[in-house]
Amino acid sequence: MAGRGDGLHFGVGRDVVQPFGQVVAAGDDAVLPDHDGSDRNLVLVHGLDGFVEGEAHEAHVVFGGHGGERHGVKIRPGSGRRVTFAAMFRSHTCGELRLDHVGQTVTLAGWVQRRRDFGGMSFVDLRDRYGITQLSFNELVDADRLAEARKLQREFVVQAVGVVVERENKNPNLATGDVEIKVQQLTVLNAAATPPFTIEDETDGGEELRMKYRYLDIRRAPVRNNLLLRHRINRSVRSYLDTLGFVDVETPFLIKSTPEGARDFVVPSRLNPNQFYALPQSPQTFKQLLMVAGMDRYYQVVRCFRDEDLRADRQPEFTQIDCEMAFVEQEDILNTFEGLVRHVLREVHGVELNEVPRMTYAEAMRRYGNDKPDIRFGMEFVELTDRVQGQGFPVFDQAELVVGFNAKGCGSFTRKQLDALTEYVKRPQLGMSGLIWMRVDEHGIPTSSVNKFFDETALRGWSEALDAEPGDLVLVLAGGANKTRKALSELRLHLGQELGLRKPFEFAPLWVVDFPLLEWDEESGRWFAMHHPFTSPKPEDIPLLETDPGAVRANAYDIVLNGNEIGGGSIRIHDRALQARMFELLGFSPEEAQAQFGFLMNAFEYGAPPHGGIAFGFDRLVALMGGDEVIRDYIAFPKNNAGRDVMIDAPSPIAEAQMEELNLLLRPNPKA
Ligand code: ASP
Repeated sequence: MAGRGDGLHFGVGRDVVQPFGQVVAAGDDAVLPDHDGSDRNLVLVHGLDGFVEGEAHEAHVVFGGHGGERHGVKIRPGSGRRVTFAAMFRSHTCGELRLDHVGQTVTLAGWVQRRRDFGGMSFVDLRDRYGITQLSFNELVDADRLAEARKLQREFVVQAVGVVVERENKNPNLATGDVEIKVQQLTVLNAAATPPFTIEDETDGGEELRMKYRYLDIRRAPVRNNLLLRHRINRSVRSYLDTLGFVDVETPFLIKSTPEGARDFVVPSRLNPNQFYALPQSPQTFKQLLMVAGMDRYYQVVRCFRDEDLRADRQPEFTQIDCEMAFVEQEDILNTFEGLVRHVLREVHGVELNEVPRMTYAEAMRRYGNDKPDIRFGMEFVELTDRVQGQGFPVFDQAELVVGFNAKGCGSFTRKQLDALTEYVKRPQLGMSGLIWMRVDEHGIPTSSVNKFFDETALRGWSEALDAEPGDLVLVLAGGANKTRKALSELRLHLGQELGLRKPFEFAPLWVVDFPLLEWDEESGRWFAMHHPFTSPKPEDIPLLETDPGAVRANAYDIVLNGNEIGGGSIRIHDRALQARMFELLGFSPEEAQAQFGFLMNAFEYGAPPHGGIAFGFDRLVALMGGDEVIRDYIAFPKNNAGRDVMIDAPSPIAEAQMEELNLLLRPNPKA
């Protein structure tokens, strides 16, 4: 049997391990390649959960060993081995039978997706996590079996034993579509009530209904595949970080407020009447304390909680890949974590990334009007303010900023299309008073919506500035600088979408660096930390803290993917005096700072190493990798737009006795 380093040696009990192409009977032994070269004898205790998918780059098997320890074995494609199931209920999955299996007697188990009856024949689509296999029943072959089959309803759980045969009418849309099972034995393992919506790729169930019965929704391939993708990305992230020596350390959920800028969810403490924990908005302070503690490289795929008003597609609880490193500078972090994105894209999509570009915040705002630009397409901003003012067009003359972009090749847009774009920028969310356009005809002659104020020579100047050629369309907005940039940025994205330039499976990450440290809030008349209060200013900008705080740049960075911020972080302050100064700038009295963050500032007195980190929004990352932007679809049990879980009906009132234990009294419900 296997010698040292040859592989893991399984003593197989009643379970079956099936190396590729070779069935190992129950009671036999099987050898699988061992990922770490150790030679351990292990007995399968709980059976195998084989996980083999066509596109996965490795399969992972988890099993119980002596003493209940769990081990993983990686099976790589081309290693010539695979693992399948314990043969209790099934010999194969509903996704794996092919022409090669013709003639074999197999046992499948799964859910009835659909039954189709014809004279003397019935076909049943049997579904499990791995796919769909057709079961066939024929009166001439086995009339009793046909009678049994005709009692099957949607979503019944059944086990079928039969022979794999080649299908007469092959279904090219199904991986198993070349074969079917001629059923010899049929067992109903459980009946099912009629599901409230059809459990197929295309369903008639609306969002709310699908969420209420999410366990049925997850049976549908599109939802299930999203969860499998999430799992694969999670594994890929962990394996990358593990290789680099990052340690997964859990941090508490019952904590005290973290000032991440959102509202906290709070939990009353029974043992400490009238006191509350907060759920972490992120493990920020803990991961910094772990650096002081010498853990050096930390990560956690961790739930975070923010009680925000739920704008489209936000979740009150969401998952971060949270990381921190000691003895690093910004450059180290950028390299390490673009490596992570590179690794995941390679493993999950087979995509090789070129160098990840870097852009300062100021440049991103100037070129795209946005600190998370989508760089999959051009249409970069060109500022026209100086060029166009003083020509008698009041809209331009009164504007703080006149800025436009060249929509290449859109010169043939109809009046109706241009009107639609104008309506787009006039929506209350953007609030612009109008859109100015100029197009260049095939002879190079420019015409515009402001011909009255700008003659051909002037417009040729615009063309030159915007590099507009025959067939191009230039779109220009004017007004207050921030508002105008934002509106033009939205218009650019909208047009990019309409023109099909935002291709979901083209991945274009970039770093945005040198964010301002502070943001002035007009309403409260004070400075806010743009990232969070632990972010270090650039050392050369520290003197500006006293003279011009708004001009101080932070050692902070965001990683942006296809127009979405997928991660952000910073080099941290690790000096008590600077941290105290920062709190002061942010309007904390020394007492308040001590009360809220004394634990961190005290820790900085005991030898805090230079450190920095980043957190990725895992849900968003997964959605984007799925070619999508809706994170809800990539979360097993998400909440709706009102923050409710409609399946378990939460939040909900608690019993009077619980309230009493917690020493809580309710006020009248303002929404009632
Ligand atoms: N804790 C930060 C956040 O949640 C990320 C970081 O600075 O590492 O945005």
